[in-house]
Amino acid sequence: MDCTERAKAQRAFREGLRDLVAHRADRAVPRLRAAVEATDPDRKGLLSLRLYWLSVALLRLDRVDLAIASLASAQKLRPRSHARDAWEARSNCYGMRRRESPELDDFHAFHSIQITRYLGTRPSRRFASAAESELVMRLVATAWLGLRKSGQLEGSSVERRLALFSGCSIDFPRPAARQPSACGEGIVAVDFKRGRILRASDRCSCGSGLSWCRCCGRTKSPREL
Ligand SMILES: [Zn+2]
Repeated sequence: MDCTERAKAQRAFREGLRDLVAHRADRAVPRLRAAVEATDPDRKGLLSLRLYWLSVALLRLDRVDLAIASLASAQKLRPRSHARDAWEARSNCYGMRRRESPELDDFHAFHSIQITRYLGTRPSRRFASAAESELVMRLVATAWLGLRKSGQLEGSSVERRLALFSGCSIDFPRPAARQPSACGEGIVAVDFKRGRILRASDRCSCGSGLSWCRCCGRTKSPREL
């Protein structure tokens, strides 16, 4: 990366911060995003700082899922930072935004896994119509009520819950191929350094000190994808 690009990124970052201070988050987001994109990936501290401020700007615009994704990356790059504290405060055991209750956390993890799986079968990765979206949402909600009623979630670990969420196969209107999207979902995560399979509650292999499920194996909301 040459000096001009570096200076451009620095200027975009400075201007983005200025916009934030002036309560113009809508202008800050594209500037901070440009600064993040132009940052050398090897400059982890700087990248973490820029991602953190991008997450703050996104939060102000109520784009919470994207803010959480940005924060997740920021804290991973710099575990001893303000980004990590914010991550601990805002994320839940699935590595998603923390909701008002553990039940809502469970529901949104289930919902994300199912919607991501469904959209993974669609060529455009999005719903083609409101009717399609409504039908799929209804099927997911019905499946969720069934799972809750079964009593299997009560007192179960996050690992078990994720296995239940992923294992719950919904009859969507089209044949839905399995799409790996989260921990416990079809793929097996392996910690190559230690030569063993990673379970959801194990320490993440990236060295963050967080559980795998809350770090590199976090459940992503469909909006992030
Ligand atoms: Zn990790």
